[in-house]
Amino acid sequence: MHRPIVAVTSDGNPHSALVQAVRTAGLDLVCVQKAEDIPPGTELTVLFDAEREGTVFNDAAFARKLAWLPVQCSGASARIGPIVVPGETSCYRCVKLRMQSHGADDMPGVQPANGLAYSLLMHVIAQECLKWLRRRETGDLPLTYQHMLEFDAYRLQGDVQPVYKIPTCPTCGVPAVMLPQAWRKEVAW
Ligand SMILES: [Zn+2]
Repeated sequence: MHRPIVAVTSDGNPHSALVQAVRTAGLDLVCVQKAEDIPPGTELTVLFDAEREGTVFNDAAFARKLAWLPVQCSGASARIGPIVVPGETSCYRCVKLRMQSHGADDMPGVQPANGLAYSLLMHVIAQECLKWLRRRETGDLPLTYQHMLEFDAYRLQGDVQPVYKIPTCPTCGVPAVMLPQAWRKEVAW
């Protein structure tokens, strides 16, 4: 028996398509509005509106050692992942820093116009949650573990990119890397 998936949404209400998808996966869903409301012991939290809330949520989740899945939805498309596991994977600041260095913008957050495509996106998210919760039994990790999935549920086109830690990340980086380093003269013997 798994603990419920927690979804964080801007209004604290679950979208009906998400509720349906999570139930289809055989999971329970709890929906909250703020990171502080996430129940202790939650195994995975899905953060919607990651383009707006992701960086602040990242630090709160890091402090509480909460695993979470960032999601940006825009129309029929979504950017899902990577699953952030504090102390194990890259954090969301790493993701943002990488995207900025590639000149990639956040998704614009357009309301979904195609209910079927949106429902498909929610089912993909629910599937990833289910894989995460069952990973020890099945030996399978979700696709979005250490990867970001961009998926257009109308055109049925997607792209998966690996996401790596940034050693100088202010949240998850190695402190020694960020300290000023002593100047050393190269000596040739
Ligand atoms: Zn990081």
